[in-house]
Amino acid sequence: MSTIQQNLQDVRSRIDAAAQSCARIPEDVTLLAVSKTKPVEAIAEAIAAGQRAFGENYVQEGVDKIQYFAQRPEGAGLEWHFIGPLQSNKSKLVAEHFAWCHTLDRQRIAQRLNDQRPAEMPPLNVLIQINISDEQSKSGIVISELPMLAAAVATLPNLTLRGLMAIPAPESDYQRQLAVFGQMNDAFQALKQRYPQVDTLSIGMTDDMPAAIVAGSTMVRIGTAIFGARDYSASTNK
Ligand SMILES: *Cc1c(COP(=O)(O)O)cnc(C)c1O
Repeated sequence: MSTIQQNLQDVRSRIDAAAQSCARIPEDVTLLAVSKTKPVEAIAEAIAAGQRAFGENYVQEGVDKIQYFAQRPEGAGLEWHFIGPLQSNKSKLVAEHFAWCHTLDRQRIAQRLNDQRPAEMPPLNVLIQINISDEQSKSGIVISELPMLAAAVATLPNLTLRGLMAIPAPESDYQRQLAVFGQMNDAFQALKQRYPQVDTLSIGMTDDMPAAIVAGSTMVRIGTAIFGARDYSASTNK
């Protein structure tokens, strides 16, 4: 078995263990494999191990990989998620190529994605990014701004509001991870009450996955634990 296949198996069993520890159903947590900076060969190994959903941070790198796999038999049925910071001059490529965008945080970009989504594609699934604890970060809105942005997104026919995403500031203490993720789940449950199609809470990365699952994550975004450490020196998209 390749390392990537073994890693995927390990991550899936950690998802199962975390879900079982809090009486959740493991199948309710989707594993998004974060393949940024990794070559198509590494993605192909993950596909061979049954992985279908992939997350990319850099628009052009993601589009190149989407186009590569679109022409190959093993690329059938893949689902590509854009999870990086989104600038408005790149929104068209996201609208034209991805199935999901996790990092919506501005009404103006929501409008652009809606207008740029090709008519023959299904609506783009979007998550609103919340800045839950990272004061250094410029990405994401504060929770008090959520009702207004969600209402605006809900009026756009080519977008489907599916839920929320967050990247908390790094925190090694499990209880503190849980407290921050708990605030996300509160906001998620409130949003779900209001918008019945909302079903996705994208929280949890390699270093905080168990706490995210216990707090209610429905989608974990895992890179390092699957593909190993990233080497940004080889990337053109630092
Ligand atoms: C890189 C990245 C991940 C994966 O992080 P790991 O710690 O490698 O699991 C998840 N989400 C986002 C938004 C990322 O940029």
